[in-house]
Amino acid sequence: MRTITLAAAIAAIVAVTGCSQSSSPSDKAAAGSQASAPAPTGSAPAKTRENPLLAKSDLPFQAPPFDKIKDSDFAPAFEQGMKEQLAEVQKIADNPAKPTFDNTLVAMEKSGQTLNRVQMDFNALFSANSDDALSKVNEDMAPKLAAHSDAIYLNDKLFQRIQTLYNERDSLKLDPESERLLEWYYNDFVHHGAKLSDADKVKLKSLNEQASKLESQFVNKLLAATKAGALVVDDKSKLDGLSKGEIAAAAQAAKARGLTGKWVLPLQNTTQQPALAELTNRDVRHQLFENSYMRTEKGGPNDTRKTIAELAKVRAEKAKLLGYPNFAAWKLEDQMAKTPDAVLKFVRALVPPTMAKARHEAGELQSMIDKSGKHFKLQAWDWEFYAEKLRKAKYDLDQNQVKPYFEVDNVLKNGVFYAAHELYGLTFKERKDIPVYNPDVKVFEVFDKDGKPLGLFYADYFKRDNKQGGAWMDNLVGQSKLLGTKPVIYNVCNFTKPAPGQPALISWDDVTTMFHEFGHALHGFFASQQYPSLSGTNVARDFVEFPSQFNEHWASYPQVFNHYAKNYKTGEPMPKELVAKLHKAAKFNQGYALGELLSASLLDMSWHMIPADAPLKDVDKFEAQALKDNHTDLSYLPPRYRSSYFMHIWGNGYSAGYYAYLWTEMLDDDAYQWFENHGGMTRANGQRFRDMILSRGNTEDLGKMFRDFYGKDPEVGPMLKDRGLK
Ligand SMILES: [Zn+2]
Repeated sequence: MRTITLAAAIAAIVAVTGCSQSSSPSDKAAAGSQASAPAPTGSAPAKTRENPLLAKSDLPFQAPPFDKIKDSDFAPAFEQGMKEQLAEVQKIADNPAKPTFDNTLVAMEKSGQTLNRVQMDFNALFSANSDDALSKVNEDMAPKLAAHSDAIYLNDKLFQRIQTLYNERDSLKLDPESERLLEWYYNDFVHHGAKLSDADKVKLKSLNEQASKLESQFVNKLLAATKAGALVVDDKSKLDGLSKGEIAAAAQAAKARGLTGKWVLPLQNTTQQPALAELTNRDVRHQLFENSYMRTEKGGPNDTRKTIAELAKVRAEKAKLLGYPNFAAWKLEDQMAKTPDAVLKFVRALVPPTMAKARHEAGELQSMIDKSGKHFKLQAWDWEFYAEKLRKAKYDLDQNQVKPYFEVDNVLKNGVFYAAHELYGLTFKERKDIPVYNPDVKVFEVFDKDGKPLGLFYADYFKRDNKQGGAWMDNLVGQSKLLGTKPVIYNVCNFTKPAPGQPALISWDDVTTMFHEFGHALHGFFASQQYPSLSGTNVARDFVEFPSQFNEHWASYPQVFNHYAKNYKTGEPMPKELVAKLHKAAKFNQGYALGELLSASLLDMSWHMIPADAPLKDVDKFEAQALKDNHTDLSYLPPRYRSSYFMHIWGNGYSAGYYAYLWTEMLDDDAYQWFENHGGMTRANGQRFRDMILSRGNTEDLGKMFRDFYGKDPEVGPMLKDRGLK
């Protein structure tokens, strides 16, 4: 059974790009073998139409029937799914027979298939194609799902069976994956309070419910605030610096909002906004930056500050109840890093070289401003603009020069898919018969090296107002031999949608994001587990970004790059000079880029190391102090996300976990070094990586998995070299 966390799906972030993978370990596939489920609740729609979420899909790979699912299906399906699973679990707990691995854990793995299906479909739509009705479902269901999850974790009869098996584990003669499953269940239950007294269990339930309410409040406020924070411009001249295509897209975005004749620059989820690199009018830049920076701090209904201060407190109280000094200590226990100290040691060691580099970069930008005859001090809203100028001066590289070589479909087929073919032998075929939730979504069937079907892949690349920011991957159906399911996986990004009739030309960052998200997809497609709980991407957060970031490396690998980087009009390859500039420029501005990640990571840790008895925090003061204490308080270098719009840590599963992107960067740069040392992109190397990492899910200790692959523990050297900090 997986932790039920609604909307926890999207995570998010970064490294070069901005991704994330759903960290919620709720990856169970729908197989619906439980015919003994109770009848539907009274809240099911009364008409003859059947709720499509309640039955196993009969589409290929059990793909969701998005053409049939309605918003109004979700609430009754959630209720039904929870009811079914509770009945299934109670039956396991009440079983008069002595606990066995089969009648307890295998039975648990088979439980909750309806709920899991509903949740996966919901997560996909709520994150990528939301509306008010789904937001309402999210808000209503979050506390109910938290309570549902508690009802299972805190079922003492059930836990006693697990404990009995755990105590007898040496005599059970289990295969390694089953043994891992038993340990995982036991630790997971204890982690979620199974050993608390009855009185404390009641307290824990109440805290979990409060937390989940606050989390979904935060998500809804942020989505509304980000939409409302878009910059509306009524004078085209103010957009000077943007390309024709971008201005047309801004006009289109205005039209879509009923603001015909104006221009709209929608906000991305990060502090910095892409247009800040191009807008020549400093006042407009300042305004766009303020819209972003203050989006959730305007005092109105979308202000998140009170919500997050309360959430931090509730989380701290929960940790205390479970016997931990703070929430981070509790949260990190089952991660690769294991303790807050290990995280802080890792992150803080990166601060001095990074900030020194950032100060140096700031000096260069300031002298550029001075030389231009202007008299102002570099601010955050100037950084991207002058960095872009400096990038051009230093490398003569204009982002708009490279975009014509990155047409999105071509990058997908001749880049992302090609790399997967060269390394792993995969092939892809577009399927137009599978229903999608939005016409922008494309579906591909994935075939293994022997030509056998591996699963379905959905690509949803363009920004929409009803999509959350960032980029992410998740499953619609998870892989499991026990349930007989193959993976159905989606990637979601937020690339600028071209005006009708125009080609979709994306930036180098976007290209990298595509490879990143597809790296998660590979981790899901190669999953080869018996049990859904241990399958594919259901691994610790500080491991889950390893396969994705690793896959980014192939975007610039010459054999791959040359295969896709061709001019969309002429088919000409990118000129060698431009390629060289692009690669050189990739090391540019790394003080800033890493700096904003470090300060966000440290903000995250600061919020989650507050002790339970501390008074409610003033968000802005606390944030300023945390940045200062960690020596990351440079005025021109704000965190990648401010506390008040830090989706990963308040709305997703990345609380006390944002560092994970940097931690896994250490893993992926090191693993890529292994490839370089062993002949680079070969099928044999790919197979080894697939066998030892990508196909293993969470079936063994993750540190051991890495050591077995490489023959040593991960080291930070290749990461520092890659960032140009060494
Ligand atoms: Zn990711």
